[in-house]
Amino acid sequence: MSDQTLFEQIVEGEIPSYTVYEDETTYAFLDVNPLAPGHTLVIPKEPYERLEDMPAGAAADVFGVLGEIAAAVEAAVDADATTIAINNGEAAGQEVPHVHWHVVPQFEDGTARPIHVMFDGADLSDDEMETVAERIRDNQ
Ligand code: AMP
Repeated sequence: MSDQTLFEQIVEGEIPSYTVYEDETTYAFLDVNPLAPGHTLVIPKEPYERLEDMPAGAAADVFGVLGEIAAAVEAAVDADATTIAINNGEAAGQEVPHVHWHVVPQFEDGTARPIHVMFDGADLSDDEMETVAERIRDNQ
């Protein structure tokens, strides 16, 4: 069995894909189970598992082309917008342990939904908000 992630094997051409973008560090291809026409995955070629595993330069490389790819996806399928998201960790639904940005077209035809529909919402007091903000600052 290969030690490579599924997405490394796609980059290497060992598994076929509908490639839509490639440069030295970044690769993009159609999701094989599209949530909408044009659903694209954008990845660093290096197999960082999660976003926080990526050195700043590697993340900058992906972000340097992500907007351009999203605009091309929108234009290709005549979408009105895109949702761009990472399932960052197994508990968030990440199935492939190689960080990837989902670029999912959205259409003004009554089918569009914001990511807010995924969550029940959390009712926090001002004190709880301040505590969690402080913890986030302390953990950087
Ligand atoms: P995630 O759940 O965020 O890890 O997303 C993994 C995504 O990879 C899913 O949306 C799958 O449909 C997609 N996927 C799995 N295998 C392939 C493949 N061979 N080619 C393209 N996309 C794939």
